[in-house]
Amino acid sequence: MHNEKTQKLRAIRDEVLALTNSPLYAYRKKNNFYPVIGEGDHDACIMFIGEAPGKNEALKARPFCGAAGSILDELLESAGIHRADVYITNIVKDRPPQNRDPLPQEIEIYVPFLDRQIEIIKPSVIATLGRFSMAYIMNKFNIPEQSQTIGKNHGKVFGTQASYGKIHIIPLYHPAAAIYNHSSLDTHKKDFAVLKQFAI
Ligand code: URA
Repeated sequence: MHNEKTQKLRAIRDEVLALTNSPLYAYRKKNNFYPVIGEGDHDACIMFIGEAPGKNEALKARPFCGAAGSILDELLESAGIHRADVYITNIVKDRPPQNRDPLPQEIEIYVPFLDRQIEIIKPSVIATLGRFSMAYIMNKFNIPEQSQTIGKNHGKVFGTQASYGKIHIIPLYHPAAAIYNHSSLDTHKKDFAVLKQFAI
């Protein structure tokens, strides 16, 4: 017997699977990729929102299971957070070709699904990973600092109101930034440490 949240999240999965009008649908089919809907605790306090699936993710239908995922795992561990206790998703659910940045029309087609995931899971913390999800979430919640760069906003906590109650938005750098620049790992870890106060 699956609860209501699981049923609603499955409806999202089915709709995204059938999203033939997505500009990324043909690329998905041609490569035998899957969309990545999200994974984790449906009652999580903390929701992470990345950018879009990479190749590993699109082959396995799981978020952050490649190189960036290893860094994310390390960062979660450094903050004492169990991956199974959070919910992890992306702003764009299908893999863009060659991991290029998502296009505005791609973001536009997938954000209604993200909005629904937020309303279903009702996180009290949204941690954005990278500038695309930061821009969307800060704009969605009308946070004045949305005009600032990720260089200014990373690791800060912005309190605001969601439809279901109080919420904190925490912009974080994308973990992939530490793949090629390992010295940035300390900055990532310092930023992730702010999540400790919200972990249960
Ligand atoms: N990068 C992302 O933004 N999301 C993933 O799921 C994997 C890599």
